[in-house]
Amino acid sequence: MCRPLTRKQKERLVSKIPQHSSYSTYSVKEKLHHNKIHQELSTELEILKSQLGHDFRSQKNQELHSYNEREVKYGGTEETKIQSSEINVNCVTQSSPSPVLTFIQSVPEAVQLSHIAASDSRNDQSQSSCQDVHISVRLMADFLELARDNTNKDLETCGVLGAFLKNGVFYITTLIIPKQETTPSSCQALNEEEIYAIQSEHSLFPLGWIHTHPSQSCFMSSIDLHTQYCYQLMLPEAVAIVMAPTDATRSYGVFRLSDPGGTTVVKECQERGFHPHKEPSDGSPIYEDCSNIYFNPNLRFEIFDLR
Ligand SMILES: [Zn+2]
Ligand SMILES: [Zn+2]
Repeated sequence: MCRPLTRKQKERLVSKIPQHSSYSTYSVKEKLHHNKIHQELSTELEILKSQLGHDFRSQKNQELHSYNEREVKYGGTEETKIQSSEINVNCVTQSSPSPVLTFIQSVPEAVQLSHIAASDSRNDQSQSSCQDVHISVRLMADFLELARDNTNKDLETCGVLGAFLKNGVFYITTLIIPKQETTPSSCQALNEEEIYAIQSEHSLFPLGWIHTHPSQSCFMSSIDLHTQYCYQLMLPEAVAIVMAPTDATRSYGVFRLSDPGGTTVVKECQERGFHPHKEPSDGSPIYEDCSNIYFNPNLRFEIFDLR
């Protein structure tokens, strides 16, 4: 994911460079020069990420704008019609790049939406500008099943969520499980270009991520908050789903950083790894339950397991 490398990972990478057979053939001047290029590249990468976020947001606004115009024209009656047929018919594309495994799920029931009621009323204020998001409970259950081997070994598993936007609503229809480096308390996606390839091939919005806490409770760690910040930078609707099968009080949570409270704290935080965060100055919690998430049993979805 777009999480920056931890200091440990950077140190490990940098310590490997002098071991390369060609390293000694470079002069000190050349090494310094390469160092500078590397720094410039990192800065450029940061700029690219925020541009990517700009592209996604303007694409979203464009689609919302044309939807609003249509709604005015047809007095809103078109919405229900298109929405229910879309759920049943067009959510899934069949193409799957080999050797990727693809599962297609379809639950032929009447549309029954259940809305997650956020326990904190302040959420509505912070997330009022966000579009509604539909997700299948089955997707979360299937993810847990695919994570089981790791979970049994007390290792985390992570996945990336892709969605399409139709009539002002985001539908999460794709779960990508990337190659990953995992520990009991963290998970780092590898080969991110494979994730981007699927998302762009299927014209999906990056709507957040899902990960397990195999032995910990259901909460957002400081590393999780930084990962989530990157997603919300691209799309304010992006969610972080935490699956905590061993937490007796709460087995899953759908979270977002409070905006602007939590996003400001994480934006200004330079620390990496596990570390404490200060409270947002506006008195809001740093992260909160999503207020506009709907569980939609009729939503079909695809899983790409790239591991
Ligand atoms: Zn976590
Ligand atoms: Zn931090």
